[in-house]
Amino acid sequence: MYRLEAPDIGNLYHRTIEHMSQTVQMEGKEWRDVSREECSSLAEAAVELVTPEIQNAILMSSNRYGYLKKKLTDVVSKTAEVLIEQSKRDGFDPVAFELAFGSGNFPPVSFTLSNGATCELVGRIDRVDTASIHDQLYVRIVDYKSSKREIDFAEIYYGLAMQMLIYLKVLIEQANAWTQENVAPAAALYFHVHRPLVAPAETDADTERKVLESYQMQGLLVDDPAILEMMDRTAKHDQKKSIVIPVKYKKDGTLDANTTKKVVSPPQLEQLMDHAIDLAQSSAEAMYDGEIGVEPYEYKERRPCQTCPFQSVCHFDEALSNEARQLKKLEKDDVLSRLGGDADEVDE
Ligand code: SF4
Repeated sequence: MYRLEAPDIGNLYHRTIEHMSQTVQMEGKEWRDVSREECSSLAEAAVELVTPEIQNAILMSSNRYGYLKKKLTDVVSKTAEVLIEQSKRDGFDPVAFELAFGSGNFPPVSFTLSNGATCELVGRIDRVDTASIHDQLYVRIVDYKSSKREIDFAEIYYGLAMQMLIYLKVLIEQANAWTQENVAPAAALYFHVHRPLVAPAETDADTERKVLESYQMQGLLVDDPAILEMMDRTAKHDQKKSIVIPVKYKKDGTLDANTTKKVVSPPQLEQLMDHAIDLAQSSAEAMYDGEIGVEPYEYKERRPCQTCPFQSVCHFDEALSNEARQLKKLEKDDVLSRLGGDADEVDE
């Protein structure tokens, strides 16, 4: 019996979208230049190319997987249509896909531990976008996810969401490995690859709008009007929720209260990136020192044990009075104050 495991589906999305994006780029186009009609052929070609690599042609070995393959083609085809719509509004353009650091000519994040050992972090960034604003090059990273993911400042603080911040920091610090210019961070975003199910609205246009909104990227954004407007050149003018980024404008053109809770100033973003690097370093120190305490966390009724393959080894069992560490929910301001107060004031 063949099984397609969940990670393979995520992998398939990544590779397929990467292939489609590279095809678009090789033709000298941006997504906004691609017609909707071209999307399904782009998706079919990409799935054909990518599936044998991932599952050794298992996808084509039965009707069931033929059906699954068609479903996957539908998902990435719809995703491509959304990338077109986002690209029409977005002034940031992709400059790299699947950018690996720690291999090839892009160095790893490296730090020396207190015992003199060198620790290297390696990784792969799904998509890197840039835009020039007032003679400054800004960079944004995009991570494709097969499940919905939102920004949670507590997760950043506790070290449950370090990856994107570390990746962004790497891109800024190692800018000379991929560009000749000085770069500044603009955002770290998640893009949910999915096939949306939305209830029909009054008009087809409204239904289409709801579909596009379901693909709105989530994540951390720098609170700078020029950067935010570059990421969606229509939302402010239309006084609407953006379909590209998690931003909504009020009638007077300012950000609504919910958006304000999520955006950060450049020094605050710097603080969060440094915190992620510090946590990576202290985790490496702890692992090197042999700290392997059975101390899982619990946050929002979620515990790593739920998907951990080592339960039979660690013997964590609440019936034996083992307790998970309860992590408190924290808002943006709580986290920033725990990290040293208002970074804007600190820098002045
Ligand atoms: S099952 Fe054990 S090893 Fe896995 S996360 Fe829970 S406590 Fe840690």
